Amino acid sequence: MVDSIKKLIRDIPDFPKPGIVFKDITPLLAHSAEFANTIQLMAEGFRDQGIDRVVGIESRGFIFGAALAIEIGAGFIPIRKPGKLPYDTISEEYELEYGNDRVEMHVDAVREGQKILMVDDLLATGGTMGACCSLIRSLGAEIVSAVFLIELSFLEGRKRLMGIPVRSLIEY
Ligand code: AMP
Repeated sequence: MVDSIKKLIRDIPDFPKPGIVFKDITPLLAHSAEFANTIQLMAEGFRDQGIDRVVGIESRGFIFGAALAIEIGAGFIPIRKPGKLPYDTISEEYELEYGNDRVEMHVDAVREGQKILMVDDLLATGGTMGACCSLIRSLGAEIVSAVFLIELSFLEGRKRLMGIPVRSLIEY
């Protein structure tokens, strides 16, 4: 099953800048059966864990996160880029190759003691997911696991995820 999903992920060299091979998931999203299989695989083992909320990271994390939340019977929470959320927010900065970036979440999005499943399409250096996990923990919620469709394991992003269990369907 994973092999047929992998075939629908397209490599785009030098996007968005020279030297980066962008993993384009749009062919997978367009294929209804394989998109559904992807969500089934991501959900495996999480249906009976009492997960309260699935947290998805803008923007491709929304696509997988929302579907996964419905699949496992949890609510969905978006973490967004700065200035997009309408209510009071908390934010966390993280380092990029050049400069910094920031992620934001509504201050009341999760509560102390809630069980959270984190989702994004791809784990690279772990900077983005690391900052998102800090936001969730700052509100006292418990992160059960972080799930990705793709992991670029050579970048060792897991090391930045503070011991949080990581599941990825496809590793490069
Ligand atoms: P990082 O913070 O380095 O782990 O980067 C992860 C975030 O950047 C995710 O939200 C990905 O969607 C995006 N990203 C990083 N590298 C790639 C890549 N090679 N192809 C597609 N998306 C990427």
